[in-house]
Amino acid sequence: MKIESVTLHRIRMELVSPFVTSYGAYVDRETIIVQVVNSDGNIGWGECVAFATPWYTEETVQGAWHMLQQFLIPPLLEQEIRHPNELTSLWSGIKRNSMAKAGVEMAVWDAYAKHQHKPLYQLIGGVRDEIKVGVAIGLQPTIEHYCQLIDQYLQQGYERIKVKIKPGRDLSLIAELRERYPQLPLMADANSAYTLANLNDLKQLDPYHLMMIEQPLAADDIIDHAKLQSNLNTPICLDESILHAEDVRKAIQLGSCKVVNVKLGRVGGWNEALRIHKLCLDHNVPLWCGGMLETGIGRAHNMALATLAGFTIPGDISASSRYWYRDIIMPEVSVDKGSVRLPDKPGIGFEVDEQYIASLTLDKLMMR
Ligand code: MG
Repeated sequence: MKIESVTLHRIRMELVSPFVTSYGAYVDRETIIVQVVNSDGNIGWGECVAFATPWYTEETVQGAWHMLQQFLIPPLLEQEIRHPNELTSLWSGIKRNSMAKAGVEMAVWDAYAKHQHKPLYQLIGGVRDEIKVGVAIGLQPTIEHYCQLIDQYLQQGYERIKVKIKPGRDLSLIAELRERYPQLPLMADANSAYTLANLNDLKQLDPYHLMMIEQPLAADDIIDHAKLQSNLNTPICLDESILHAEDVRKAIQLGSCKVVNVKLGRVGGWNEALRIHKLCLDHNVPLWCGGMLETGIGRAHNMALATLAGFTIPGDISASSRYWYRDIIMPEVSVDKGSVRLPDKPGIGFEVDEQYIASLTLDKLMMR
Protein backbone atom coordinates (compact mmCIF):
# COMPACT_ATOMS: atom_id res chain seq x y z
CA MET A 1 0.00 0.00 0.00
CA LYS A 2 1.37 3.40 -0.97
CA ILE A 3 0.18 6.56 0.80
CA GLU A 4 -0.15 9.09 -2.00
CA SER A 5 -1.11 12.15 0.03
CA VAL A 6 -1.62 13.34 3.58
CA THR A 7 -3.82 16.36 4.35
CA LEU A 8 -3.89 18.09 7.73
CA HIS A 9 -6.97 20.07 8.73
CA ARG A 10 -6.58 22.22 11.84
CA ILE A 11 -10.11 22.88 13.03
CA ARG A 12 -11.84 24.50 15.98
CA MET A 13 -15.16 23.29 17.37
CA GLU A 14 -17.24 24.89 20.09
CA LEU A 15 -18.02 22.62 23.05
CA VAL A 16 -21.67 22.25 24.15
CA SER A 17 -20.52 23.11 27.70
CA PRO A 18 -17.10 24.08 29.10
CA PHE A 19 -15.02 21.12 30.29
CA VAL A 20 -13.20 21.83 33.57
CA THR A 21 -10.38 19.68 34.98
CA SER A 22 -7.84 20.23 37.76
CA TYR A 23 -5.71 21.98 35.11
CA GLY A 24 -8.22 24.49 33.75
CA ALA A 25 -11.30 24.98 31.57
CA TYR A 26 -11.96 24.45 27.86
CA VAL A 27 -14.77 26.20 25.99
CA ASP A 28 -13.77 25.03 22.53
CA ARG A 29 -11.55 22.35 21.06
CA GLU A 30 -8.82 22.89 18.53
CA THR A 31 -7.65 19.68 16.88
CA ILE A 32 -5.87 18.32 13.81
CA ILE A 33 -7.79 15.99 11.51
CA VAL A 34 -5.49 13.80 9.41
CA GLN A 35 -6.65 12.54 6.02
CA VAL A 36 -4.59 10.06 3.99
CA VAL A 37 -5.27 8.76 0.50
CA ASN A 38 -3.69 5.50 -0.62
CA SER A 39 -2.86 4.29 -4.13
CA ASP A 40 -6.27 2.51 -4.40
CA GLY A 41 -8.03 5.79 -3.67
CA ASN A 42 -9.10 4.71 -0.17
CA ILE A 43 -9.36 7.61 2.23
CA GLY A 44 -8.29 7.09 5.83
CA TRP A 45 -9.07 9.44 8.72
CA GLY A 46 -7.26 10.04 12.00
CA GLU A 47 -7.18 12.71 14.69
CA CYS A 48 -4.25 14.22 16.55
CA VAL A 49 -5.68 14.76 20.04
CA ALA A 50 -3.10 17.25 21.35
CA PHE A 51 -4.71 20.23 23.04
CA ALA A 52 -3.95 23.88 22.25
CA THR A 53 -1.95 24.10 25.51
CA PRO A 54 0.43 21.49 27.01
CA TRP A 55 -1.56 20.69 30.18
CA TYR A 56 -2.23 17.01 29.58
CA THR A 57 1.11 16.04 28.05
CA GLU A 58 3.87 18.18 26.52
CA GLU A 59 2.29 18.06 23.06
CA THR A 60 0.27 20.95 21.57
CA VAL A 61 -1.67 21.46 18.36
CA GLN A 62 0.95 23.82 16.92
CA GLY A 63 3.84 21.60 18.00
CA ALA A 64 2.20 18.53 16.50
CA TRP A 65 1.57 20.39 13.25
CA HIS A 66 5.31 21.15 13.02
CA MET A 67 6.27 17.53 13.82
CA LEU A 68 3.83 16.16 11.26
CA GLN A 69 4.94 18.48 8.50
CA GLN A 70 8.68 18.32 9.12
CA PHE A 71 9.33 14.81 10.39
CA LEU A 72 6.46 12.32 10.39
CA ILE A 73 4.75 12.70 7.02
CA PRO A 74 7.77 12.98 4.66
CA PRO A 75 9.14 9.43 5.29
CA LEU A 76 5.62 7.98 4.97
CA LEU A 77 5.18 9.52 1.51
CA GLU A 78 8.53 8.15 0.40
CA GLN A 79 7.92 4.45 0.70
CA GLU A 80 5.47 1.61 0.21
CA ILE A 81 4.13 -0.10 3.34
CA ARG A 82 2.71 -3.62 3.58
CA HIS A 83 1.02 -3.10 6.93
CA PRO A 84 0.34 -0.12 9.26
CA ASN A 85 2.49 -1.75 11.96
CA GLU A 86 5.53 -0.79 9.87
CA LEU A 87 5.03 2.81 10.97
CA THR A 88 6.63 1.97 14.33
CA SER A 89 9.97 1.23 12.68
CA LEU A 90 9.55 3.99 10.10
CA TRP A 91 9.43 6.53 12.97
CA SER A 92 11.75 4.73 15.40
CA GLY A 93 14.28 7.58 15.17
CA ILE A 94 11.69 10.17 16.24
CA LYS A 95 11.31 10.43 20.01
CA ARG A 96 7.86 10.72 21.65
CA ASN A 97 5.40 13.06 19.90
CA SER A 98 2.87 10.28 20.40
CA MET A 99 -0.26 12.27 19.57
CA ALA A 100 1.20 13.51 16.31
CA LYS A 101 2.25 9.96 15.39
CA ALA A 102 -1.10 8.51 16.43
CA GLY A 103 -3.04 10.95 14.24
CA VAL A 104 -1.33 9.65 11.10
CA GLU A 105 -1.21 6.05 12.26
CA MET A 106 -4.97 6.04 12.86
CA ALA A 107 -5.59 7.39 9.36
CA VAL A 108 -3.30 4.75 7.82
CA TRP A 109 -5.07 1.96 9.76
CA ASP A 110 -8.44 3.27 8.55
CA ALA A 111 -7.22 3.33 4.92
CA TYR A 112 -5.71 -0.14 5.34
CA ALA A 113 -8.96 -1.55 6.73
CA LYS A 114 -10.84 -0.05 3.78
CA HIS A 115 -8.22 -1.53 1.44
CA GLN A 116 -8.97 -4.92 3.10
CA HIS A 117 -12.76 -4.26 2.87
CA LYS A 118 -13.06 -4.86 6.61
CA PRO A 119 -14.36 -2.86 9.57
CA LEU A 120 -11.35 -1.63 11.55
CA TYR A 121 -12.59 -3.26 14.76
CA GLN A 122 -12.63 -6.66 13.08
CA LEU A 123 -9.19 -6.13 11.58
CA ILE A 124 -7.63 -5.44 14.98
CA GLY A 125 -9.31 -8.49 16.54
CA GLY A 126 -12.27 -6.90 18.31
CA VAL A 127 -14.61 -9.41 19.90
CA ARG A 128 -17.86 -7.41 20.12
CA ASP A 129 -19.87 -5.08 17.90
CA GLU A 130 -21.44 -3.22 20.80
CA ILE A 131 -19.55 -1.53 23.61
CA LYS A 132 -20.54 -0.24 27.03
CA VAL A 133 -19.78 3.42 27.52
CA GLY A 134 -19.72 5.95 30.33
CA VAL A 135 -19.55 9.68 30.61
CA ALA A 136 -17.08 12.04 32.27
CA ILE A 137 -18.19 15.16 34.13
CA GLY A 138 -15.78 18.06 34.62
CA LEU A 139 -15.48 19.98 37.91
CA GLN A 140 -18.80 21.67 38.78
CA PRO A 141 -19.48 24.59 41.14
CA THR A 142 -22.01 22.83 43.42
CA ILE A 143 -23.30 19.35 44.26
CA GLU A 144 -26.62 20.29 42.67
CA HIS A 145 -24.87 20.85 39.34
CA TYR A 146 -23.42 17.33 39.58
CA CYS A 147 -26.76 15.75 40.42
CA GLN A 148 -28.53 17.58 37.65
CA LEU A 149 -25.95 16.38 35.13
CA ILE A 150 -25.86 12.83 36.47
CA ASP A 151 -29.66 12.55 36.35
CA GLN A 152 -29.61 13.85 32.81
CA TYR A 153 -26.90 11.37 31.73
CA LEU A 154 -28.59 8.43 33.46
CA GLN A 155 -31.76 9.35 31.63
CA GLN A 156 -29.83 9.37 28.36
CA GLY A 157 -28.78 5.78 29.07
CA TYR A 158 -25.25 6.13 30.45
CA GLU A 159 -24.52 3.55 33.11
CA ARG A 160 -21.13 4.67 34.44
CA ILE A 161 -20.22 8.15 35.62
CA LYS A 162 -16.77 9.63 36.11
CA VAL A 163 -16.15 12.84 38.03
CA LYS A 164 -13.03 14.94 38.22
CA ILE A 165 -11.61 15.52 41.70
CA LYS A 166 -8.83 17.63 43.21
CA PRO A 167 -7.69 18.42 46.76
CA GLY A 168 -10.56 20.09 48.61
CA ARG A 169 -13.08 18.91 45.99
CA ASP A 170 -12.94 15.20 46.73
CA LEU A 171 -14.15 13.52 49.91
CA SER A 172 -17.31 15.56 50.52
CA LEU A 173 -18.22 15.35 46.82
CA ILE A 174 -17.81 11.59 46.63
CA ALA A 175 -19.57 11.04 49.98
CA GLU A 176 -22.51 13.14 48.86
CA LEU A 177 -22.75 11.50 45.43
CA ARG A 178 -22.58 8.06 47.04
CA GLU A 179 -25.38 8.93 49.41
CA ARG A 180 -27.60 10.11 46.55
CA TYR A 181 -26.61 7.31 44.16
CA PRO A 182 -25.76 4.29 46.33
CA GLN A 183 -25.46 1.79 43.44
CA LEU A 184 -24.09 4.01 40.68
CA PRO A 185 -20.90 2.71 39.01
CA LEU A 186 -18.79 5.76 39.86
CA MET A 187 -15.16 6.59 39.32
CA ALA A 188 -12.97 9.62 40.08
CA ASP A 189 -10.22 11.16 37.97
CA ALA A 190 -7.61 13.35 39.69
CA ASN A 191 -5.42 14.23 36.68
CA SER A 192 -2.32 14.15 38.94
CA ALA A 193 -3.68 16.66 41.45
CA TYR A 194 -2.25 14.82 44.51
CA THR A 195 1.06 13.76 46.06
CA LEU A 196 1.88 11.05 48.60
CA ALA A 197 1.35 13.72 51.28
CA ASN A 198 -2.39 13.26 50.52
CA LEU A 199 -2.29 9.50 51.23
CA ASN A 200 -4.59 9.75 54.23
CA ASP A 201 -7.10 11.92 52.36
CA LEU A 202 -7.23 9.45 49.48
CA LYS A 203 -7.58 6.55 51.91
CA GLN A 204 -10.78 8.15 53.17
CA LEU A 205 -12.33 7.50 49.75
CA ASP A 206 -12.07 3.72 50.31
CA PRO A 207 -15.51 3.25 51.96
CA TYR A 208 -17.31 4.71 48.93
CA HIS A 209 -16.52 1.74 46.65
CA LEU A 210 -15.38 3.77 43.67
CA MET A 211 -14.67 1.61 40.63
CA MET A 212 -11.23 3.24 40.60
CA ILE A 213 -9.36 6.45 41.18
CA GLU A 214 -7.62 7.58 38.05
CA GLN A 215 -4.11 9.07 38.01
CA PRO A 216 -3.98 10.48 41.56
CA LEU A 217 -0.24 11.29 41.43
CA ALA A 218 2.14 12.81 38.90
CA ALA A 219 2.65 11.19 35.52
CA ASP A 220 6.23 10.13 36.35
CA ASP A 221 5.41 8.95 39.89
CA ILE A 222 5.07 5.27 39.08
CA ILE A 223 6.92 4.29 42.29
CA ASP A 224 4.77 6.55 44.50
CA HIS A 225 1.67 5.10 42.83
CA ALA A 226 2.84 1.64 43.96
CA LYS A 227 3.17 2.90 47.53
CA LEU A 228 -0.25 4.53 47.35
CA GLN A 229 -1.92 1.44 45.84
CA SER A 230 -0.54 -0.76 48.61
CA ASN A 231 -2.31 1.53 51.11
CA LEU A 232 -5.64 1.84 49.27
CA ASN A 233 -8.48 -0.58 48.68
CA THR A 234 -9.75 1.55 45.80
CA PRO A 235 -8.09 0.34 42.60
CA ILE A 236 -5.74 2.88 41.03
CA CYS A 237 -6.00 3.37 37.29
CA LEU A 238 -3.07 4.92 35.44
CA ASP A 239 -3.73 7.33 32.59
CA GLU A 240 -1.03 10.03 32.12
CA SER A 241 1.67 7.61 33.41
CA ILE A 242 1.17 5.13 30.56
CA LEU A 243 2.95 6.32 27.42
CA HIS A 244 3.81 2.90 25.99
CA ALA A 245 3.73 -0.82 26.74
CA GLU A 246 6.97 -0.66 28.75
CA ASP A 247 5.28 1.66 31.25
CA VAL A 248 2.51 -0.91 31.68
CA ARG A 249 5.01 -3.71 32.24
CA LYS A 250 6.75 -1.67 34.96
CA ALA A 251 3.48 -0.54 36.57
CA ILE A 252 2.23 -4.12 36.78
CA GLN A 253 5.56 -5.34 38.14
CA LEU A 254 5.67 -2.60 40.81
CA GLY A 255 1.97 -2.88 41.69
CA SER A 256 1.36 0.76 40.74
CA CYS A 257 -2.15 0.16 39.42
CA LYS A 258 -4.91 -2.42 39.03
CA VAL A 259 -6.53 -0.89 35.95
CA VAL A 260 -5.15 0.71 32.78
CA ASN A 261 -6.67 3.53 30.75
CA VAL A 262 -5.62 3.54 27.09
CA LYS A 263 -5.84 6.56 24.84
CA LEU A 264 -4.64 6.02 21.30
CA GLY A 265 -3.14 9.51 21.16
CA ARG A 266 -1.24 9.27 24.42
CA VAL A 267 0.39 5.91 23.55
CA GLY A 268 1.26 6.80 19.94
CA GLY A 269 -1.52 4.96 18.13
CA TRP A 270 -2.86 1.52 17.34
CA ASN A 271 0.39 -0.45 17.27
CA GLU A 272 1.33 0.46 20.83
CA ALA A 273 -2.27 0.20 22.04
CA LEU A 274 -2.41 -3.38 20.75
CA ARG A 275 0.86 -4.20 22.60
CA ILE A 276 -0.56 -2.74 25.82
CA HIS A 277 -3.76 -4.72 25.37
CA LYS A 278 -1.85 -8.00 25.00
CA LEU A 279 0.27 -7.27 28.07
CA CYS A 280 -2.77 -6.45 30.20
CA LEU A 281 -4.62 -9.55 29.00
CA ASP A 282 -1.61 -11.70 29.93
CA HIS A 283 -1.64 -10.21 33.44
CA ASN A 284 -5.42 -10.05 33.93
CA VAL A 285 -5.40 -6.27 34.21
CA PRO A 286 -8.67 -4.78 32.91
CA LEU A 287 -8.52 -1.88 30.47
CA TRP A 288 -10.83 0.87 29.33
CA CYS A 289 -10.67 3.53 26.68
CA GLY A 290 -10.21 7.13 27.82
CA GLY A 291 -11.43 10.24 26.06
CA MET A 292 -9.70 13.41 24.84
CA LEU A 293 -12.72 15.51 23.80
CA GLU A 294 -12.44 13.91 20.37
CA THR A 295 -14.45 14.73 17.30
CA GLY A 296 -16.33 11.85 15.73
CA ILE A 297 -13.19 10.65 13.94
CA GLY A 298 -11.19 10.07 17.12
CA ARG A 299 -14.36 8.73 18.75
CA ALA A 300 -14.82 6.15 15.98
CA HIS A 301 -11.28 4.87 16.54
CA ASN A 302 -11.93 4.73 20.30
CA MET A 303 -15.04 2.66 19.66
CA ALA A 304 -12.98 0.13 17.68
CA LEU A 305 -10.39 0.00 20.48
CA ALA A 306 -13.06 -0.76 23.07
CA THR A 307 -14.15 -3.90 21.17
CA LEU A 308 -10.92 -5.69 22.20
CA ALA A 309 -11.38 -8.51 24.72
CA GLY A 310 -9.52 -6.83 27.60
CA PHE A 311 -11.61 -3.65 27.50
CA THR A 312 -14.10 -4.82 30.10
CA ILE A 313 -14.75 -1.45 31.77
CA PRO A 314 -17.04 1.10 30.04
CA GLY A 315 -14.93 3.79 28.35
CA ASP A 316 -15.27 7.58 28.12
CA ILE A 317 -16.86 7.22 24.69
CA SER A 318 -19.96 9.33 24.94
CA ALA A 319 -22.42 10.28 22.24
CA SER A 320 -21.39 13.05 19.83
CA SER A 321 -24.04 15.29 21.42
CA ARG A 322 -22.24 15.13 24.80
CA TYR A 323 -19.61 17.50 23.36
CA TRP A 324 -20.76 18.87 19.99
CA TYR A 325 -23.71 20.74 18.55
CA ARG A 326 -22.90 18.96 15.32
CA ASP A 327 -20.27 16.27 14.73
CA ILE A 328 -17.99 15.90 11.67
CA ILE A 329 -19.07 12.30 11.05
CA MET A 330 -22.33 10.89 9.72
CA PRO A 331 -24.27 9.43 11.37
CA GLU A 332 -23.33 10.87 14.75
CA VAL A 333 -22.40 8.49 17.59
CA SER A 334 -25.43 7.79 19.76
CA VAL A 335 -25.86 5.92 23.03
CA ASP A 336 -28.66 3.49 23.72
CA LYS A 337 -29.05 1.84 27.16
CA GLY A 338 -25.42 2.57 28.03
CA SER A 339 -24.13 1.07 24.79
CA VAL A 340 -22.82 2.17 21.43
CA ARG A 341 -23.10 -0.09 18.39
CA LEU A 342 -20.28 -0.23 15.86
CA PRO A 343 -21.11 0.29 12.19
CA ASP A 344 -20.61 -2.74 9.99
CA LYS A 345 -18.75 -0.90 7.24
CA PRO A 346 -15.09 -0.93 6.17
CA GLY A 347 -12.59 1.12 8.19
CA ILE A 348 -13.96 3.32 10.97
CA GLY A 349 -17.38 2.81 9.39
CA PHE A 350 -18.59 6.43 9.38
CA GLU A 351 -18.87 8.97 6.59
CA VAL A 352 -16.82 12.10 7.18
CA ASP A 353 -18.54 15.43 6.57
CA GLU A 354 -15.80 17.16 4.56
CA GLN A 355 -17.92 20.23 3.86
CA TYR A 356 -18.51 20.79 7.54
CA ILE A 357 -14.78 20.26 8.25
CA ALA A 358 -14.01 22.92 5.63
CA SER A 359 -16.27 25.37 7.45
CA LEU A 360 -14.40 24.76 10.74
CA THR A 361 -10.90 24.90 9.25
CA LEU A 362 -8.28 27.36 10.53
CA ASP A 363 -5.39 25.92 8.57
CA LYS A 364 -4.98 23.25 5.91
CA LEU A 365 -1.90 21.56 4.47
CA MET A 366 -1.69 18.89 1.79
CA MET A 367 1.52 16.91 1.28
CA ARG A 368 2.13 14.41 -1.48
MG1 MG B 1 -7.82 10.71 33.01
